[in-house]
Amino acid sequence: SMFVAGSMGSFPELYANIQKALGASERVLEILDEVPEKVDTTADSKIIKQPITGAISFKHVAFSYPTRPDIKTLKDISFEAHAGDKIAIVGPSGTGKSTLASLILQFYKPDAGLICYDQKPASDYSLSDIRNQVAIVPQDVLLFGGTIRENIAYGKLDAEAEEIIEAAKRANAHSYIMQFPEGYDTLVGERGVKLSGGQRQRIAIARALLKDPAILILDEATSSLDSESERQVQLALEELMKNRTSIIIAHRLSTIYDADKIIVVNEGVVSESGTHNELVQLENGLYKHLYQLQSNAKVDA
Ligand code: ATP
Repeated sequence: SMFVAGSMGSFPELYANIQKALGASERVLEILDEVPEKVDTTADSKIIKQPITGAISFKHVAFSYPTRPDIKTLKDISFEAHAGDKIAIVGPSGTGKSTLASLILQFYKPDAGLICYDQKPASDYSLSDIRNQVAIVPQDVLLFGGTIRENIAYGKLDAEAEEIIEAAKRANAHSYIMQFPEGYDTLVGERGVKLSGGQRQRIAIARALLKDPAILILDEATSSLDSESERQVQLALEELMKNRTSIIIAHRLSTIYDADKIIVVNEGVVSESGTHNELVQLENGLYKHLYQLQSNAKVDA
């Protein structure tokens, strides 16, 4: 179908341009999330009209960035998530965890293999059908210049005022928003108030709650928040993860002990997968190693 070729052409370009402008690759993904998917130009009869319910699978996915065709970032990734599962992706830095998230969001197409939503390949859906059912809460949330209300409503452009407040309440953002004299009309970004990392994350969570997608990608922050903010964010995330498939790119293993499945990605392949209890029993396992490192760090601290 034509929509893939047509729509995919512009995104990597945009990606590259934004990256050039910012010189900060970790910011690229969340900016792309700000780019509205306005029109669905396809009239392809093959397109499935059923909404995605949340199952997702990778089948032997391989991928190189167009700008780095010599480097196989993902070599062979296969995994399966049932609708409603909590799936964690862990692995050393730079092994392709965020890249995997970009593929789920259809910013790029795999060079080989298939990504399926509800057992059907991505090519069976329009880009907007997929994007409407996938939300990401990025590591470092970048808000656009505008009001808090507009930043939350970005998840659903026609949202009613009450829906926005309801989402903010569920995201533990309402009470800090109400402490500003202008409340929801407070300007944020360069010309407005400066929000803390945890406050910005809760705006992104409210935005995702409003969007109510079947699939949530959570790129966990590496930089730690103060412990009260951390707790507020964690509670808001738990609310957000309810009743949907969540894919957590995890840096702190303590948040994923209860995951239905942990996928360990190393050098572009899935090196291990299983529950926390299964993986800590693997002799010489990478997960076990990472777990021991983090447990020791905690004891030392
Ligand atoms: P971390 O845990 O540090 O966030 P990660 O496992 O998420 O890392 P990725 O961000 O997916 O790793 O990066 C995988 C590899 O792809 C890295 O070598 C990175 O430099 C490279 N890479 C990431 N984004 C791009 C891009 N837009 N163009 C080219 N190469 C990229």
